[in-house]
Formats: sequence, structure tokens, C-alpha cells
Amino acid sequence: MVRHGGRGWHGRVLAAALGVTAVAAATSVWTAQADPVGKQHADTGVSARPSGPAAGAEDSAQARVSAAIAHASDRGARGVNITIDDGPDPVWTPRVLQVLRDNGVKATFCMVGTQAEAHPELVRAVVAAGHRLCDHTVSHDTGMDHKSQAYQSQQILDAERMITKASGGVRPMYYRAPGGAFTPYSRDLAASHGMRPLGWNVDTEDFKRPGTAAIVATVRNEVANGPTILFHDAGGDRSQTVAALREVLPWLKQQGYSFGFPVR
Ligand SMILES: [Zn+2]
Repeated sequence: MVRHGGRGWHGRVLAAALGVTAVAAATSVWTAQADPVGKQHADTGVSARPSGPAAGAEDSAQARVSAAIAHASDRGARGVNITIDDGPDPVWTPRVLQVLRDNGVKATFCMVGTQAEAHPELVRAVVAAGHRLCDHTVSHDTGMDHKSQAYQSQQILDAERMITKASGGVRPMYYRAPGGAFTPYSRDLAASHGMRPLGWNVDTEDFKRPGTAAIVATVRNEVANGPTILFHDAGGDRSQTVAALREVLPWLKQQGYSFGFPVR
């Protein structure tokens, strides 16, 4: 939990990652960012040939994906993407998994490398339940966009290796920079490893523990802004998050939303 104490960075979210621009064209922007091919490949990633100059190293057999920050859902206009960040955590991840299971919802888990390394059984549980993995770097440095390319590369690729090892070979399909600290370099690097840069549209600010009702209200009020919703399963007591998910998932369903994954 070392690096999850200070959370002030959440206040300086980059507009690019937070896809709530309140412009009329927002929806078409998401659409334009959608992967035109949209094909998923096997998580084992053994079939695709390395392509492009960045794909030469070791086992980088993942096909390149778009380096644009994704917000859209593969379920289309009425799809939502539940994203769960900063874990896995031995207390909260199992509870989040239970709520998702109870509601038949698949989500995307953006994992911190050290957390994945410490709790491989949780990474495997996430994968076994049909959720997807996302690389959230080794040490959650929200200032990484101001550091060297070598440092950014280490943060992203070491976490990719840690998560893939913990999962038993299932690779992260997305890359979400901590605090939205993307750079053109880091987006391209992630994309060359088959990890689509992943933003968000609705920040529930659950990490601030504003109360279950407030978290629920944020989702209700802001889901029209876009489909990718941000929650956390680590970094402190997440009981409000678990309770909010228990309310919000059935509500979204009632509103006619279906649950998908971010586009790649
Ligand atoms: Zn995070």
C-alpha cells in the first residue's frame, strides 16, 4: 500500500484521459477513436507476428493496437465499461469480484505491477471470471509523464511482465497511465505491445470516500458523459465502492445499458 497514500493527483486529471469534454462532438470523438478493426485476439497472443520497430523484444507477440486513448465501449452507444483500478487487493478485490459476479458484469481491472506480483491468486481469479487486465504501471507514479522515456518504458513493460506472470500468461489488453499521465511515447509503447491506452469518462471519486450515495449519484448524473466509469479496489477502505457497485450495476441495467469492454 506504500504508494497509495497520497491521492492528490486525482485532482489534476488530464483532459485527454478524462473524456468528458462537454462538447457536442464528444460522442463522435469516441467513435472516431474506436479501433476500426475491433478484433480481439487471444490473450495468449501466440498467433500474431511481431510488427513494427518496437515489437522486436522477447515475447512481444501482441499485435499493435491504436495508440489513441480509448473511451468507447465495444457494446456501442448503450454500452458502459466498468473499470476497477489500483489493485489487486486481498480485502477489496474479492468483494468487488463478488458484486460483479452477482450482477453478471464483466469489468476491466487496471492493476499495479507490485500488487499483481504480491497477489497472483487474485489476478488469476480476475481472469478466470472473464474480466480483462489493464497495465497500471509498476509503482503508480502520477508524475511519470515528466520523466525519461527509459523510466516510462520500465514502468509500463515491467508491469506488463509482472501482471502477465501473475496471471499465468494472460496479458493486459490496455494501458492506463496513473492519474492520466500519458505521453505520446508511452501511448505508442503500450500500443506496440498490444495494450490500448485507456481513459475514462466518469470519475466516481470513490477514493475520497464521499459516501455510497454520492458515488451512486455521480454515476447516475455523469454516465451520459461517456461509457467508461472509474472505480478503485485498493488504496484504502473501499466498502463504499462495493456498496455503490451493488446499487449502480442494477440501475445501469434498468436504464438499458449493457456492460462491455473498452474498444481496442
Ligand atoms: Zn490508479
